[in-house]
Amino acid sequence: MQDTFIAESDVVLIGAGIMSSTLGVFLKELEPSLTITMFETLEDCALESSEPWNNAGTGHAANCEMNYTPERPDGSVDISKALEVNVEFDLSRQFWSYLVRNGAIADPRSFINPVPHMSFVHGDRNVSFLRRRFKAMSAHPCYYGMEYTEDRKKLSEWVPLVMEGRTGDEPVAATRIITGTDVDYGSLTHHLVRHLVGQPGCSVHYKNRVTDIVREENGRWRVEVHDLDSGDKRSVKTKFVFIGAGGGALPLLQKSGIAEGRGYGGFPVSGIWLRCDDPGINKRHHAKVYGKAAVGSPPMSVPHLDTRVIGGQHSLLFGPYAGFSSKFLKHGSLLDLFESVRPANVKPLLSVARDNFDLTEYLIEQVLQSESHRLAALDEYYPSANAKDWRLQVAGQRVQIIKPDVKRGGLLEFGTELVGAADRSIVALLGASPGASTAAFIAISVLEKCFADELTPSAWLPKLKQIIPSYGVSLIEDAEFLQHIRAETAHVLKVENIDLPPVRRRSGSTGKSKATG
Ligand SMILES: Cc1cc2nc3c(=O)[nH]c(=O)nc-3n(C[C@H](O)[C@H](O)[C@H](O)COP(=O)(O)OP(=O)(O)OC[C@H]3O[C@@H](n4cnc5c(N)ncnc54)[C@H](O)[C@@H]3O)c2cc1C
Repeated sequence: MQDTFIAESDVVLIGAGIMSSTLGVFLKELEPSLTITMFETLEDCALESSEPWNNAGTGHAANCEMNYTPERPDGSVDISKALEVNVEFDLSRQFWSYLVRNGAIADPRSFINPVPHMSFVHGDRNVSFLRRRFKAMSAHPCYYGMEYTEDRKKLSEWVPLVMEGRTGDEPVAATRIITGTDVDYGSLTHHLVRHLVGQPGCSVHYKNRVTDIVREENGRWRVEVHDLDSGDKRSVKTKFVFIGAGGGALPLLQKSGIAEGRGYGGFPVSGIWLRCDDPGINKRHHAKVYGKAAVGSPPMSVPHLDTRVIGGQHSLLFGPYAGFSSKFLKHGSLLDLFESVRPANVKPLLSVARDNFDLTEYLIEQVLQSESHRLAALDEYYPSANAKDWRLQVAGQRVQIIKPDVKRGGLLEFGTELVGAADRSIVALLGASPGASTAAFIAISVLEKCFADELTPSAWLPKLKQIIPSYGVSLIEDAEFLQHIRAETAHVLKVENIDLPPVRRRSGSTGKSKATG
């Protein structure tokens, strides 16, 4: 093994998943002269979490995920987090529409399809919660058009498989919003990488693992790369590194040695789906139906019965069943978790283990689940399901963030976080929820964090507004603009749209806010 070359690149992107490819495309659109180099351990892009069967493909707009709408002590429902996630998805819709309009993506149906989003509950307490949730959400323009029913007949029309064989008189209820989507993030990543590397100065190197990130004396970074085919080592110098390595981001952040990354740790949660490819069954279910999470379970393990559209084929997915593996990536090593332990993160790791006993219990119970337990869980959403129609499908790994906390020693977080150096020359994306749906929001956050000097009216801002017309406007507050953006992007992406009535459009204030979305 020997050093084959030392190259220079304005930007190095580590990982060829949805996050790096989204950021790469934004950067190249904003500054066409940039040289951008992407490194990926595996033989193609989108083979880890962004691969379509490694995630659920929900275009997360917080329509149906009840964990985003907690109940307040007074019984009212707090929809503020849901609204944030909802308009973050509008940023992705605008970005994708821009690419379709400009010919970078020929057919939106190759990655996004209309699939109604539903929340489904049973039992008095849950029905009461869903009713109050519906009342709060449907009053906001962002959720205009959401429907609610407790009527079994109507539910049988919406989701026949969920209702068939459901005996007894236990109350049931659901909300539905027909503007929901299923997204094949794998196909989308392929579009993005192809578009990026088709431009001058951009390249992707597969089977190239980044092994180290070293700060040079002049403040730039030297990214060390191992070519897995030839065994050669490469070294690339750059002004800016994005660690978009999914589960592999934490170890690389640690290698960079930046002070801001001290004390961070990761907790991997794996997932398994049940998958059904029988067209006779699948044609009778057209929705993503999310239930309520079991007590003590992590929010991303909420059970759901989903329509998936992958490569033009319709399938059904149910799950996820959580599991535990010490790997940070599906193609990673069982040593990943142990090798991430550092003197600085021992305390946060131990504190999280102490404070999250119900999560540990939940994971143990999930790992010990037999096939009959899994089918019993499916029964709750599809009572007449037959085991022979379903097979197991291993999902991706999610590495939840463990971060230092002055009071408790350490906190376990289920969201995503950008951790970067104060000089803005390197940033890592940790965590995995709401995930791929908010890739555009995350890319814009990187721009704001690391390229603030370029985001000015005389530099990148006009182009950014061309890509994201709502940039700088709060779509939560500006109902009229929200209506315009939703109608426009629905038309380009060929998904469902519901027009706000004129009176509702005017009811939102048109005040500008700092928030993007
Ligand atoms: C079970 C499950 C369900 C999910 N459901 C949804 C959903 O319904 N909707 C949604 O929006 N999101 C969902 N997500 C989250 C979503 O999949 C992720 O947020 C998203 O795919 C992450 O993209 P990424 O580009 O950061 O990571 P990845 O797609 O994992 O890409 C990272 C890449 O980096 C590469 N890499 C790692 N280390 C190195 C290294 N040292 N050198 C070079 N390359 C490296 C990896 O090989 C990989 O290809 C789900 C995730 C899981 C696991």
